Parts: sequence; structure tokens; C-alpha cells
Amino acid sequence: MFKKLFFLALFIFFLFPVTQHAEKTVIIDVGHGGKYSGTCGYSGSATGFCEKDANLLVALKLQEILKPTDIKVHLTRTTDTEFAPYLKNADGTTDGGDFDVRMKMANAFAEKNNNNSIFISIHHNAHPTNSFRRGIETYYYDGVKHGKSEYPHDPLQIKYLSENKRLAEVVHPILVNSLRLPDRKIHSDQSFYVIRNAQMPSILVELGYMINRHEEKLIKTESYQFEAAGALAKGIEAYFAVFEVYGSNNERLATFSNEIEALSYAYTVKSAISVLDKNRQTTIYVKDSFRYVLKPW
Ligand SMILES: [Zn+2]
Repeated sequence: MFKKLFFLALFIFFLFPVTQHAEKTVIIDVGHGGKYSGTCGYSGSATGFCEKDANLLVALKLQEILKPTDIKVHLTRTTDTEFAPYLKNADGTTDGGDFDVRMKMANAFAEKNNNNSIFISIHHNAHPTNSFRRGIETYYYDGVKHGKSEYPHDPLQIKYLSENKRLAEVVHPILVNSLRLPDRKIHSDQSFYVIRNAQMPSILVELGYMINRHEEKLIKTESYQFEAAGALAKGIEAYFAVFEVYGSNNERLATFSNEIEALSYAYTVKSAISVLDKNRQTTIYVKDSFRYVLKPW
């Protein structure tokens, strides 16, 4: 009897192989740190509370919020520290500089799991002259409008241009709605070092203007930091809650928020081979000569 059951189980396993994928991973880049303070805002130079502190407080709360979920979290720093003694080499290159060391660490966290990893760099904003400026901005790299030879990107980042945009479009409205600050929009016109060198989908968020007296006050409160961290967590979960359709070379053909739409696309489009439930990290459909549908639950 046991033997029969064993062979039955084996048969079912080969007929309906459930493909488990890697873990969903988020790399939280905590902007600035150590001797690189970032903006010290409206009153930071007097109080000693600068952007590097605000970034870390939000990042640590985000890590706590995501702890009970199935999303693996890495922070580029958990203390007030710089990554290298200088931002750039004397010749202007960044090899060995703070950004370079930071991104080597971030990319190592995503290694071999780049398609299921995302990179979010947390910052707070300043303006050199306008202390009335307020609001939330989100940046992603589009690799086209400003792809300049003096600002080279990581070749792997280019694979994720459409995902950078999707990540920004998912996270930004959640931030604006949760934090109830002016919507200063999504931008793709800056090629910041960290987002153009992330070997995974990436965005940089500016969670308010510290140069603005009112916003700085808000940014210093624990409730605002929790709101910001909670909104980022919601955005991260929403980003992963999709169904991706893949072709025979494992290239992503389309992304759907609806499972039925993804399955019907995969069924009708000739080049579509499989559907990944990105949230469950499970392949739910594989097309081969038998044309069967896998439903592991
Ligand atoms: Zn910054």
C-alpha cells in the first residue's frame, strides 16, 4: 500500500511539478551616513539631526514592519557610518568611493536573485534656496533620457528599466496618500549613482523637505517615520503582488495584476511559456506539448 502511494506521489510530482522560486528580497539603502550627513535641513546644524538620521529611523522601522512577512530585508547600514572615506576618487571615478562600496554591498544581497529583488534608496530632501518647498518625490532610472558616458550605469540595471518605472508608479502614490504631503511627482531625469548601479529594479524616494520648517518638524516625529515606513512596506508588497508571463528564453513578456488575465494571455499568446505568481514565488502555469495548467493550491 505504502509503495503504491509512493509511486502515485512520484507520478503526481512529475506530472504537476510545482516550481518554487527564490525569496522576495528588498534592499533598503539608507542614504548618506557617518561623515556624509546629507542635508541638515532647517535647523539641523543647530540640533545635529540631519538627513542621515531621518533616513536611518525610517529604514529601521521599515525593517521591523516587514519582519513578519515573507519578504527578506537587507539594509545597507544599520548605524551612523560611512562606507568609504571619500565619495569619489581624485580623478572623478567612483571606484572605491562611498557610493561604490555601498552598491557593491547592495548588489551582493541580490546576487543570483536579481529578478526577485528590489532596491529602495531612502532620502529626505533639500533645496538650495527655496525653504518653502514641500512634498514627496520618487526617482527611477530610465537609461535613455540622460544616459551619459560620464555617468555609466551597471549593464545589469538596463534589464530592469520597465520594472524601475513600475516600482516607482506603485510606491509613489501610496507614499503621497499615506503621508498627505504635496505630490512632487515621479521623475526619471536624474541618474543618481545608486539607482543607475543597482543590479535590480530600483527607486530613490525623497520623503519630504527638511529645508522646510514645517516638514522638518514632521519628519522628526516618530509617527511620521512610522507612516513613511508603513507606506513603503505597502508599496513593496503591492509591487510583488503580480503575475508575470515568461517566454521560452525566460524573458518576461507581460505583467498582470489579475491572475485570470495573466493565464488567458499565456494560454492565447504563442510565445508565452509560463506564468509566475510573483507574490507566492510559484509557477502556476507551464505550457508544453500537453498544455496543462498547474495549480499548486
Ligand atoms: Zn539625500
